[in-house]
Amino acid sequence: MSSALPPQIQTTCPYCGVGCGVTATIDKGRVTAVSGTQDHPANKGRLCVKGSALHETLGEHGRLLHPQINSCRTDWNTALDVVAAGFSDIIKRHGPDSVAFYLSGQLLTEDYYVANKLMKGFIGTANVDTNSRLCMASAVAGYQRGLGADAVPCTYEDLENCDLLIMVGSNAAWTHPVLFQRISTAKQQRPEMKVVVIDPRRTATCELADLHLRIAPGSDGFVFTGLLRFLSEKKCLNEDFTAAHTEGFAAAMDCTQDLETTAKKADVDIGELEQFYRWFARTEKTVTFYSQGINQSATGTDKCNAIINCHLATGRIGKEGMGPFSITGQPNAMGGREVGGLANQLAAHMDFAEENVDRMARFWQSDSIANKPGLKAVDMFNAIDSGEIKAIWIMATNPVVSLPDPQRVRAALKKCELVVVSDCIEKTDTTVCAHVLLPASGWGEKDGTVTNSERCISRQRALLPAAGDAKPDWWMICEVAKRMGFAQHFAFTSPAEIFREHARLSGFENDPLSNARRVFDISALATLDDEQFEHLSPIRWPLPASCNGNQLSTPLLNDNRFYTANGKARFIAVTAQMPQLPTEPLPYTLNTGRVRDQWHTMTRTARAPRLLNHTDAPYLALNPLDALSTGIGDGDLVRVKNSQAELMMTAVLDTGQRPGEVFVPIHWSAQFAAHGRVNELISSVTDPHSGQPESKFAQLTLQLAPVCCWVHLISREELDVSVFFYWVKIPVAKGWRYLLAIRQEPNKESHNSATNILQTLNDFLLPSTSGLQRIELTNTATTDYRALFCQRDQIHIAAFSAVKRNSLPDTARMNALLDHQVGADSWRLLNVSGSGPGRIICSCYQVSESAIVNAVRNGAKTPAELGRLLRCGSNCGSCIPELKQLLHRTEKSTEK
Ligand code: SF4
Repeated sequence: MSSALPPQIQTTCPYCGVGCGVTATIDKGRVTAVSGTQDHPANKGRLCVKGSALHETLGEHGRLLHPQINSCRTDWNTALDVVAAGFSDIIKRHGPDSVAFYLSGQLLTEDYYVANKLMKGFIGTANVDTNSRLCMASAVAGYQRGLGADAVPCTYEDLENCDLLIMVGSNAAWTHPVLFQRISTAKQQRPEMKVVVIDPRRTATCELADLHLRIAPGSDGFVFTGLLRFLSEKKCLNEDFTAAHTEGFAAAMDCTQDLETTAKKADVDIGELEQFYRWFARTEKTVTFYSQGINQSATGTDKCNAIINCHLATGRIGKEGMGPFSITGQPNAMGGREVGGLANQLAAHMDFAEENVDRMARFWQSDSIANKPGLKAVDMFNAIDSGEIKAIWIMATNPVVSLPDPQRVRAALKKCELVVVSDCIEKTDTTVCAHVLLPASGWGEKDGTVTNSERCISRQRALLPAAGDAKPDWWMICEVAKRMGFAQHFAFTSPAEIFREHARLSGFENDPLSNARRVFDISALATLDDEQFEHLSPIRWPLPASCNGNQLSTPLLNDNRFYTANGKARFIAVTAQMPQLPTEPLPYTLNTGRVRDQWHTMTRTARAPRLLNHTDAPYLALNPLDALSTGIGDGDLVRVKNSQAELMMTAVLDTGQRPGEVFVPIHWSAQFAAHGRVNELISSVTDPHSGQPESKFAQLTLQLAPVCCWVHLISREELDVSVFFYWVKIPVAKGWRYLLAIRQEPNKESHNSATNILQTLNDFLLPSTSGLQRIELTNTATTDYRALFCQRDQIHIAAFSAVKRNSLPDTARMNALLDHQVGADSWRLLNVSGSGPGRIICSCYQVSESAIVNAVRNGAKTPAELGRLLRCGSNCGSCIPELKQLLHRTEKSTEK
């Protein structure tokens, strides 16, 4: 790509399942700015804070630039030969089921398609699964059981057009911010629209709620089986609809329970629960919006069906402003579902029924099609552990962080005969386990399509040339396939060619009038030429060949005919269950989730330092009452333990947590923190239907961790901080910032003495600071140590230590040190106390919590006024829910 590039290119955000259109400005070979694409149906010009920092995540630093074998650089030919020969040899010795692919919702549909085709079509095993298994597999299984197909029957417009929106198991304000903004705007325009949030935590999403049901963790299934009983008792069912278009109602009703039992199970006020039920009963245009809080459960599929049951019982499905709407976490989880990226699907929404295997054999012209489901994610890594799977290719994902029990996953990979990882980042917790590393093109270099949560297919386009020797995943897969003897079936030369085959397959023997019709049909796009593919505008499926291919979409449900053999939707008899407790229950229940400004395992978002100003370290949120009873204070280090693991996190006191329940974010890995991988505490319990792990539930104990000294340090170069028992590494604009702790050893006076602590610090700093000019202050009585290590007029390293963490300079002051010009009065920089501007709330304009609180104390009453005064919330809007929280909290404390 060269100067012939247009100044602006339309592409798609690579983060969450909203799938926002992004307009990238290119200047002199660099992406200089991004903005929301005005006419993209998902975002209509908006971007959240992560999307608006996309251009800040580009660049070669940290990228995997060349193929490597056993950590040594090699060329593509050698690497591909080794991968193909390795897979072929293991298949020859142990059969096709001895190899596997583990894919990702970050892949483009074209990458997914050829990976699935190679494994299921030619190698002959269905051991292809994806990290989407961890995100929405229960939603898929729920739709398949209830509607007969993985057919999401809603669009984003339904969220704006409904009169009652139930958000359950979703903190959309942080996880799907642009959708949350669309909903907020709709509610502002129609204040009569009701929003109910069902969540054990009071999250930023609750700022929009007319009612927040703060249920016991994992009790969501009871809320919806109870709702079905209530609707029946109050005679609010749509009997004509259920009689004509559904089956199985009576059996589903048999599993329900009354209002009182439900309130007890869910541990909510019976009046509030009844209020919600009454709103549901009387509101025709109702959408239930659900996400990982429902899916990531050992009974996730049943919970999805409990929700779907209520929509079927009221006939509220397939019409404007109503339906059960599962929102995916990942940008292309839906694309993976379309091609058969899950181990229990064959391809293009077909399962392993004999006629489907036969159909695929004819379409792909192969006689070695997989004829049974393969191993799902957790089982796949168990099979690596047991030696059943001997070769795996992991593409664009980080299972050593994201799967439950990562130590076990890591140990399994260490035993595996051949581990191939294709990624765009060189150092992740997973790439360090690889024998062969293949450099993949990243966002801004890749070219193809993705499908968002409302079935809208959008183009991701290349903006820049690939870094180093990086190549698209589809290219590597095809090259390996050719070397394994399948050249004629993988002769693709572009994503457009792959897309056409994928579109053709979706319509292959897919008769819209037959009862065996498949809902995923985009055959209208099978004839796009390269030029048309290049300019493809966002378009929603289904798009059968009979439609003209230009309309945004055709309806998903015609005449309420569902995708089952008899066209009727199925009620599922759901017996709600609470999460299973360990044999010896522990006092605290863990919940996990995402923070506002990070994505997945931070491999991309941590490249934009401003995204770390909002939350820069893994933390444990707990109720102040629990803090009191355990002697844990805000910012203290907490030892978090259960039978599987022990981690260390800093405490954040949060009245939004129910007593006895704690929350930890999922993002941190061993690349950024000594104790960041919360999945260490999660066991590998999975849902029996979907195979999705119960990632949001564990039990544990809490204990104050003994710290004798805290250190806040900033450096222009990366340092090895592994000698500290607790550390967090935070990338900043000009280097790295570290939060470190030295352990207090019980009954070891000399170890804990100030002299010993200062010696430990000195020993650590010496190798990196020798030859640098020192400006230091030492208090041998308190272990307070403050030092600047300078070279010419720049500070190279700055270190501050203190017994109390809140005596250390805060983030903003530390970050500013690398901009300081060293002079005669630089020693004044050492004379700082802990109180500074505090946490950054608005990442776009770097507005701190204290500035916002001051503005509220001085009379600001709304987020709009704060925006006018400080600019916070006036760009991407991701911080508006927190501005509202701060407004409420500050006003309340001022009233007291
Ligand atoms: Fe990207 Fe944010 Fe849009 Fe999600 S909501 S697709 S993260 S810009």
